[in-house]
Amino acid sequence: MATNWTDAQINEIVQSVLSQMKKEPVQPAASWDATQYNGRKLIGIFADMNDAINAANEGYKAVRSMSLANREKIITEIRKLTRAEAPVMAALGVAETKMGRVEHKIAKHNLIADKTPGTEDITPTVKTGDHGLTLTEMAPFGVVGAIAPSTNPSETVICNSIGMIVAGNGVVFNPHPNAIATSNYAVDLVNRASAAAGGPQILVASVIKPTLDTANVMYKNPLIRLLVCTGGPGVVKAVLSSGKKAIGAGAGNPPVIVDDTADIPKAAKDIIDGCTFDNNLPCIAEKEVFAFANIADELIANMLKNGCYLLTREQADRLADIVITKSTDKDGKVKSAVSRDCVGRDAKVLLEKIGVHVGDEIRCAIAEVPFEHPFVQTELMMPILGIVRVQNIDQAIDLAVKAEHGNRHTAHMHSKNIDNLTRFARAVETTIFVKNAPSYAGIGFGGEGHTTFTIAGPTGEGLTSGKSFTRSRRCVMVDNFRIV
Ligand code: NAD
Repeated sequence: MATNWTDAQINEIVQSVLSQMKKEPVQPAASWDATQYNGRKLIGIFADMNDAINAANEGYKAVRSMSLANREKIITEIRKLTRAEAPVMAALGVAETKMGRVEHKIAKHNLIADKTPGTEDITPTVKTGDHGLTLTEMAPFGVVGAIAPSTNPSETVICNSIGMIVAGNGVVFNPHPNAIATSNYAVDLVNRASAAAGGPQILVASVIKPTLDTANVMYKNPLIRLLVCTGGPGVVKAVLSSGKKAIGAGAGNPPVIVDDTADIPKAAKDIIDGCTFDNNLPCIAEKEVFAFANIADELIANMLKNGCYLLTREQADRLADIVITKSTDKDGKVKSAVSRDCVGRDAKVLLEKIGVHVGDEIRCAIAEVPFEHPFVQTELMMPILGIVRVQNIDQAIDLAVKAEHGNRHTAHMHSKNIDNLTRFARAVETTIFVKNAPSYAGIGFGGEGHTTFTIAGPTGEGLTSGKSFTRSRRCVMVDNFRIV
C-alpha cells in the first residue's frame, strides 16, 4: 500500500509519528502492565471480568438514554482521537505483538476513523398501507462481549466499539493475551472520547489479564446478551457453542486467480501490495496464487520488480518447516501449527531464517509450489506467497475453491473476462470478492464501501457495522397514521 502513497503523504505520516513521539514516547515494553500508559491510568480496565461487565452495563444504561445526536458526538470524538493517536497505537501494536508494520497500522487506524459507519447505519424503516403504519427500529442488545485478535488489536477494539456504541450498546472486551496493552489503550481511548463528548466515563471495559477463564466468565454472565468474536477457528467455535446469540468472524485463506486476460504488471503489483500490507496480517490478504501457465512467468517477473524474492523449491520447503511447527500430542498424534515467532514478521526476517540475507526493499518471499504445499494450504499470515500454475479456468477455480477450505471468507481475481470473474465469484461463495485490485480494496481502502475488521462469514452478517449489533423491533399502529 505504501507504494501507492505520494511523497507528500508519506512525509505527512512521518511528521505525524515524529511529533506524536516527541509528545509522548511509546511506553517501554518493560513497564507494560495493561492498566496504565506512560504513568496515565487507563480508564475502564478491571482486574475482574464481572466488574468490567458491570461497568459496561452502567455505560449501556447511560448511552441508551442519550439522544442519537449525542451518541453521534461520541463517535465523532472517537474518530478524532483515533486519527490523532494512530501513530502511538501503531507503534505500540508492533512493539507488543512483534507483528506487522507501523506505517500500515497507521493507515488501518485512519481507515477505521474515516470509514466505520456512524448512527446513519441504524436508520429505521416504515411500512404504511390499508391497515395503518408499522415502524421497525434497531435497538441495542445491552452489553456486548467482544473477543479481539492479536493481528489487528486496537483496530478491532475501536471499530467494534464504534459499531456497538452506534447501536446503543455497552461493550466488554476480552483482548488477545499477546496484545493486552495495545487493546486496553484503545479501550481507554474510547472512554476518553465518551467522557469528552458528554457520555459516560466508562462505556467500554476490559480486563488486566484476559484468559480463556475470563472469556468463559463473559459467556456465562447474564448481562452479556450478544457475543462477537474476531479470531481463529478455535475461538469462533467456542463462542458459537456458548448458547448465546453470537457473531463469528473467523479464519480465511484467500486465494487469487490470475488469468491470461489480466493486466499482468498491474496484477503483480496489486497482489504484492495486498499480500504485504501489515505483513499479511489482515484476514482478507492474498494468501496463495493460481496463475494461468501461459502468463505465470510474466507474473513472477513483475512480482520480482515489486520487492519479491523468488525462493527455490528447496528453500521453500526449508522455510515451510520453520514457519510451521510440528508437535506430538499425548495420544501420539502429530499436530502442526503456524509458528507464532513467524506470523506478521518482515520478509527479510523470515528469509534470514534460511540463511538468505536481503535488504529492506524485499517485502515478500514467493515460490512456485505444488497445490499440496503448506504455502498454499495454510493461513500463514506472513509475507510468503505460494504460486501454483494452472492450465485453464476450470482447474484454477477447482483448486482455488479447495484452497479456501470452505471458509467463505475472501477471494480475489485479476481478469478482464467477465465470464471467468463471474464463475469464480459464484463458485467460491466468499463474503468478499475483489476484482483487479489489492485485497484491502475489499474493506474500503481504495474501494467503495464501509470498513470493518470483523468480517462475519460463518454467521452471515458479512462486513459488520452498527446494524449488525442491533435487535430489530417492530411497533404497529392499526388503521391510523397513514396520511394518504
Ligand atoms: P486467535 O484465534 O489466536 O485469538 C483470538 C482471540 O481468541 C484471542 O483473544 C484469544 O486469546 C482468544 N481465544 C482463543 N481460543 C479461545 C477459546 N477457546 N475461548 C475463548 N477465547 C479464545 O486469533 P489471532 O491469531 O489473534 O488472529 C488471527 C486469526 O483470526 C486468523 O485465523 C484470522 O483469519 C482471524 N481473523 C479473522 C477476522 C475476520 O474478520 N474474519 C479478523 C481478524 C482475524
